[in-house]
Formats: sequence, C-alpha cells, structure tokens
Amino acid sequence: MEEVKKLVELVRNHYGTNDFIPLHAPRFNGNEKRYVSDTLESTFVSSVGAYVGEFEDQVCTFTGAGAAVATVNGTAALHTALFLSGVKSGDIVITQALTFVATCNTIAHLGATPLFIDVCRESLSLCPIALEDYLSAHSEIRDGQCYHTCGARIASVMPMHTFGHPAKMDALKEVCERYHITLVEDAAESLGSFYKNQHTGTFTDFSALSFNGNKVITTGGGGMVLCGTPELGQRAKHITTTAKVAHAYEFYHDELAFNYRMPNINAALGCAQMEQLPAYLKNKRRLAATYKAHFNNSELVFVDEPQDAHSNFWLNALLCPSRQYRDAFLKQSNSAGIMTRPVWQLMHTLPMFNSAPRGPLTNSEFLADHLVNIPSSVAPEKEVR
Ligand SMILES: *Cc1c(COP(=O)(O)O)cnc(C)c1O
Repeated sequence: MEEVKKLVELVRNHYGTNDFIPLHAPRFNGNEKRYVSDTLESTFVSSVGAYVGEFEDQVCTFTGAGAAVATVNGTAALHTALFLSGVKSGDIVITQALTFVATCNTIAHLGATPLFIDVCRESLSLCPIALEDYLSAHSEIRDGQCYHTCGARIASVMPMHTFGHPAKMDALKEVCERYHITLVEDAAESLGSFYKNQHTGTFTDFSALSFNGNKVITTGGGGMVLCGTPELGQRAKHITTTAKVAHAYEFYHDELAFNYRMPNINAALGCAQMEQLPAYLKNKRRLAATYKAHFNNSELVFVDEPQDAHSNFWLNALLCPSRQYRDAFLKQSNSAGIMTRPVWQLMHTLPMFNSAPRGPLTNSEFLADHLVNIPSSVAPEKEVR
C-alpha cells in the first residue's frame, strides 16, 4: 500500500528513528527525577506529602476547575465522580458504546446499568441529537426524576471526549437539564482540550482525568476528580481518603468510602509533567497539523478537531475507505514497526455488557470498522543550532 509507505516515511522522519514507534510513549525530560528522589529522601512517598497538593493546585489552575482531587488512577477518579453525582444500584447511566472499558466498568461497579447511545461522526463523542431522540421515545419524567420505560431511573449521562476531541457539551447540558439527568464527563483522554474556550471536565459537578502511562501526561498510574466547587472538592477528598475525620491520633470514619488517594511519589512525577504540559500540547498540535496536510487529497481521511473545539490530539486518527482497507493498513504499518490500532471493540459486543439497553449505533459501528489510530507521542524537540 502506497499510503502506508508514505506514512511510515513521515512518522520515521518526525520521530527521527528507525526503531519501533509506539502509539503514545511518555517523556521524562524535565524535573521528574529530581522531584521523585526528593520524595524518597523525605520518606514522604505515600499519600501524605507536599507534591499531592501541589499537583492538584496545578491541574486546578490549568483547567479552571473549582477543585481537583488526585487519585490512584483514572478509573478510581471516574468511580468517585459517578458515586458523588448520586448514581445508585439499579439506576441507568447513559454513555457511549465507543469508549474504553473503564467507562462502563465504573457504572457496573456501582450496581447501575450502562445504556449505549451513538456518537457524532464529527466529535467521535456522545451525540446530543441521538440522546434526545432516545429519551423522547423511551423515558418519562416523574417527581423531578427521569425514568426509563422499563422502570429504572436514568441517573446520569456520561460522555467521553474521545481521543481528546470534546463532546458538544452545551447541547448535552441542555438536554440533560430538560430531562433532570446529571452529567458526568469522562475526561480521561482530554487534558488540554477545550470546548468553546472552557476546559473539558469543567462543565459538570464531577468529572475524571487519567494520568496513565499512555495519556498526555503521566504519573505512572494516576487520575484526578475535577469538581465544580471547592465544597464538592472537600466531598471528593473525604470519600477518596476512607472518610477519615481529621484527628491527631484517633481513627474515626463517618461514612462508607474509598481508599483512592494518589501517593506523593506519583504526584512528584505529575508536578514535573505539568511544567511541560504547554510544550507537549504545542508539539502534539504541530504533529496533528503535519498529518492533516499529509492526508489532504488522500483516500484516508484525517480526523480533525470538531467545530468550537480546541483538541489536545491525544491520539490522532484516520478513517479508511473500507474495513478490508483498514485490516490491510493495520497489518502493513505494524509489520513496518509503526504501531497503529483500530478503535476499541464496541462495549455492547463485550460479554459483560452485551445485554445492556441501547439506541441505534450507526456511527459507532461505522467508526469501529473504519477508524485507525496512528503514532501520536510528543516528539523530541529538534535541536536549536
Ligand atoms: C485512560 C482512560 C480511563 C482511565 O484509565 P486508568 O488507566 O484507570 O487511568 C477511563 N476512561 C477512558 C476513556 C480512558 O481512556
């Protein structure tokens, strides 16, 4: 395939290497070693330590959230966000079939059922029109709450900002307000992405970021609950730290809670990574622009940022002309040492979610057949001579 040859050349030239090129590798070129060894020397490696608060402050300032609470991973942050938004056992939570499995696992672990609604072709994220269509046909409002015709309460809608492309948050918000449903954003992939100049994850009372090894910045493992107000932040902090009531030596816990707090050693990495985030985002957007120009007039269509959005381009994506083309593309690029990948298998095709209720998933199915992700790591800055 001529297209694969040209892509391999572009990617090898961009990263300046003939070695294997992963989809998204972390970089540690700043103060990472200094800050981590600082935690070792101080012995404050666990969740008491200055870096945790410092990292939370930095993310809070960057995103403009009301508060930010660091957790052991993104899944834990999402679990906390959904729990605090009031999802209970027996409820329905509406989300995407096109997402990473963690989104649905957190719903199921709360005893709720995921309900799958289609994504937009443009944003790859939850479609407000499909949501409205489904709710108008399958729900009713009683006592200020939304109920599915099957009898279960529809507690929340959880859009996921796929590959860092923001969902249409204003339209989703409008539908959810009208149907008395809370919104929780799975912003795991979208640190550095803005919708109408507002950072993703700040449109709702609670949302979640991830700092897994393959995300825009990493803390090894880690996540963050973004909260709408400082008071909600206090709730998130309490519930992620075993609901322990502060005391010099007594152990008293005033409610059922989680032990989800991020250790200081991970937060040290986070502080160093945050210092480099603006440069990483610039670097990633430059790569996206390079891909966009390269695939102009190609049979492969580059997935650009949606209208009204400023994307972090966490993972760049292309649409292939057919499923057969996609399979050949994946095979050839991977054997040339360039990692490429199809999108996740749709959630309703997995054994644990195959009986979950759903609306039409035309766009999700199209993307599952046609989309591929291509290398998207931050590239080493060219040396300035
Ligand atoms: C990365 C990710 C998460 C959280 O993953 P962790 O590995 O637990 O940090 C959740 N949802 C989506 C969509 C993700 O991509």
